[in-house]
Amino acid sequence: TATTETRKFEAEVAQVLHLVTHSLYSHKEIFLRELISNASDACDKLRFESIAKPELLSGDAELHIDVSWDPDARTVTVRDNGVGMNRDEVIANIGTIASSGTKRFLEAMSSEQKTDARLIGQFGVGFYSAFVVADRVTVLSRRADQPAGEGVKWESDGKGDYSLEQVELAERGSAVILHLKADEDEFLKPWTLKSLITRYSDHVAFPIRMPKEVDGKPGEEWETTNAASALWTKPKSEISDEDYQSFYKALGHDFNDALAWTHNRVEGSQSFTTLLYLPAQPPFDLMMGGRDERKGLKLYIKRVFIMDAAEELLPNYLRFVRGVVDADDLPLNVSREILQQNRQLERIKAACVKRVLDLIEKLARDEPEKFTTFYKAFGNTLKEGIAEDHANRERIAKLLRFASTKGEGNAQTVSLDDYIGRMALGQDTLWYITADSHAAAIGSPQLEAFKAKGIEVLLMSDRIDEWMLGSLNEYAGKKLKNVAKGELPLDEADKKQQEEASKAAEPLLKKLKDLLGDRVSDVRVSPRLTDSPSCLALSDYEMAPHLARLMREAGH
Ligand code: ADP
Ligand code: MG
Repeated sequence: TATTETRKFEAEVAQVLHLVTHSLYSHKEIFLRELISNASDACDKLRFESIAKPELLSGDAELHIDVSWDPDARTVTVRDNGVGMNRDEVIANIGTIASSGTKRFLEAMSSEQKTDARLIGQFGVGFYSAFVVADRVTVLSRRADQPAGEGVKWESDGKGDYSLEQVELAERGSAVILHLKADEDEFLKPWTLKSLITRYSDHVAFPIRMPKEVDGKPGEEWETTNAASALWTKPKSEISDEDYQSFYKALGHDFNDALAWTHNRVEGSQSFTTLLYLPAQPPFDLMMGGRDERKGLKLYIKRVFIMDAAEELLPNYLRFVRGVVDADDLPLNVSREILQQNRQLERIKAACVKRVLDLIEKLARDEPEKFTTFYKAFGNTLKEGIAEDHANRERIAKLLRFASTKGEGNAQTVSLDDYIGRMALGQDTLWYITADSHAAAIGSPQLEAFKAKGIEVLLMSDRIDEWMLGSLNEYAGKKLKNVAKGELPLDEADKKQQEEASKAAEPLLKKLKDLLGDRVSDVRVSPRLTDSPSCLALSDYEMAPHLARLMREAGH
């Protein structure tokens, strides 16, 4: 006998439901993309599980996704013959918020009253987007390894609770049935559904089928509506920019076009394909400084999706990259643990890094506008590479851009090579100043002597700069130095003048030293200043003042 049980959503789910349904309203059509993406994930999972247990596919080996509509019942159904869910999985996956990413999403959304629909898909709250257009959602699901009697029926109006029932389901996989709200009739038009599939899901790797229309109703015959190809396996010459962009949007859950991409096939003792994208804007997680939500780089082995493997395939400082890596020679039963110490994977990772840096270099050289967009979004993330990636330090440093006393206002446009190109004959040091803000940097008395001598100084005021500079002492064989530290570049005439000035000021210096006591290690006549009467200077090994302040704030 079937019993129906009613359960309450976890408190956070109710909150997410509320937020999603309200914030997504202007992009409500993405529910279809999200449900198709879940169906595609479910097919990926089954294909993966069937490597070890081929019997899971028995009798129904063609994985596919069906989208259908019913004008009389006013429903839209997305069905897949993928892995399905058992009762516990239904409760865990769509009754609870398991991922920490979703929790952070929730905090951010409620604290800042932010309603940016772009972010929703990135946080695994995709399923709930169904409630933007539906006032009731039914899920019928049967896990691939369970008998027909072990089907689950889940149903909810998306308010506070849901019902669960054990049902008989002849086929494995899941069906998500949307009972449309009164004013959402447009989604009952097959043309609308079809165009949404083309727009958002054309490159889903499984066939998405729709019934052919007969007299305004779904007929018996089904047709495939998407390209259903693994885009990255095609030759570049057969892929249009639009193809690349729509693949990116589905992959990155992004509404916006990608900024640039690089698609490569490596043949040889180890063959693999990489298709890597630079987004135009930082994903939500990156803005929040998050590190553990690392989706967006998918590892395939011979077209079989294995796992999200951004962490294994990219260094942290390139975590904004989205894409696909398809390796021919890795064992299909590879686990995350094995991946972490796999030598082949090390080589693929190095290749990914090289491709991404090549791509960014190409933008810097050929497409300055795009490079500026990139740098605004990800420049500070890239800087982490100076400390993280010794092997590529010089390449990364070449890509950095700074404000400068010879640049334009506070725009970060001056490269280290620009600086070197403007150096006076005999100058062997690149000078910089670090400060809390651009205004503090440009207004610092430390710059006076450099201005007077016409020496360019890079103005660094991003939080990460001081930390990065700890790993960047040299570039192109030249030293990088903080203007507040150590000896200044003096010529003979300067030195003589300074000696004379020091001698003349001796009584004053003594008095100041007595007066300041322990608070200073020395008081000197300095060539640093031309207008201001005094400034604080550091020895080579002291911390910059604003870093010292940051450390104090952090409780060190
Ligand atoms: P995400 O896809 O980012 O994990 P969603 O909210 O879209 O987040 O889905 C939540 C979870 O529900 C999925 O991770 C998956 O475990 C489960 N799920 C959703 N749809 C399906 C489906 N069609 N088949 C199997 N599992 C599903
Ligand atoms: Mg999803």
